[in-house]
Amino acid sequence: MLFKLLDKDEFKNLVNILLQSNEVIAPKQVGVNVTGKTLHQYLPVTSFDEIDLTYETTQYSAKTYFLPYKENLSTYRFDEKDWKQEIRYRQEPRVMLGLHACDIHALLKLDKVLARDNFPSPYYIARRKNAFIIGIDHEPCEGGFCRSLGTDTVNNGFDLFLTDLGERYFVSINTDLGYRVLLQVKTKDVTEEDTRKYLLTRKSISDAFQTHVNVQNLPNLLDLEFESKVWNKWGQKCLSCGSCSMVCPTCYCYGVTERVSMDFKSGAKVKQLYSCNLVDFATVAGGHNFRPNRETRLKYRYYHQHRGFVESYDEPKCVGCNRCGRVCLAEINPPDIIRDIQMEER
Ligand code: SF4
Ligand code: SF4
Repeated sequence: MLFKLLDKDEFKNLVNILLQSNEVIAPKQVGVNVTGKTLHQYLPVTSFDEIDLTYETTQYSAKTYFLPYKENLSTYRFDEKDWKQEIRYRQEPRVMLGLHACDIHALLKLDKVLARDNFPSPYYIARRKNAFIIGIDHEPCEGGFCRSLGTDTVNNGFDLFLTDLGERYFVSINTDLGYRVLLQVKTKDVTEEDTRKYLLTRKSISDAFQTHVNVQNLPNLLDLEFESKVWNKWGQKCLSCGSCSMVCPTCYCYGVTERVSMDFKSGAKVKQLYSCNLVDFATVAGGHNFRPNRETRLKYRYYHQHRGFVESYDEPKCVGCNRCGRVCLAEINPPDIIRDIQMEER
């Protein structure tokens, strides 16, 4: 890793250069909630002034730009004797600006499933290959427990990563492309004083975490507590709305449907993200539902996040962003459920 210092004026110049030839997605304020707290989303921007890098979190994660909620896998058209199919992968360059460490970790986890496992997705890979990622450090978000999962800092999965030192950014450079892009603006070498400031900033962020979750031995504990009443307690609150999976940066389950036009001359194979909390998620041909109860479905989601994924990839799927906890109308959230399960052991 290389490090440089970038004055904020120069950073603005850098963003303007990137805007000239790329689609730029960045955090943008979209409103305020009932308590007056600002709400942000990752959205396309056309000028530097639209970007708010001081954002706490976004309602939806950056996953949306790599794994859209809905996409055409292919379209096809029939003529009298033949048929033609069209498959399009995204090729246009895209800059993802201002991603937090947990969202970068989430993409690295999705890579394991969608870019490297038995059935890599060319649609996902095309978007990943054409994305230039600039991350940024931030103060802990409400209920975020990424520090407990080691996802509050990140060492790869980005091109440039910024830490705000007041008048300037401390920039971690992780790729050749990141280095070459940075050559287009003026940077400074890092002094000992800058390094000291950077480490103090990192420590202050780390110390500010309020939510801690003990995930040690959690996969084994989940195996032991498979029949725990905790699943009924939380499952009975669940509305089976699926919102938690939609905002989660690492949930990737989906369904595929065939949409054929009324005249039978054309059609599309459409992929749509799905949630294991939805009532028909485990319904199979013939109508049998393997998980008809909401507590079983809620349990399944937690077992995939904190047990099944660990078995496959030696790490939890969850990055601790608590988006699922914030969006849930029933106030179901990972820290409370995990603590409840741990209490069962006492
Ligand atoms: S846990 Fe909450 S957000 Fe998720 S399906 Fe249940 S009610 Fe909806
Ligand atoms: S399960 Fe919840 S806390 Fe974990 S990554 Fe998904 S949204 Fe974030």
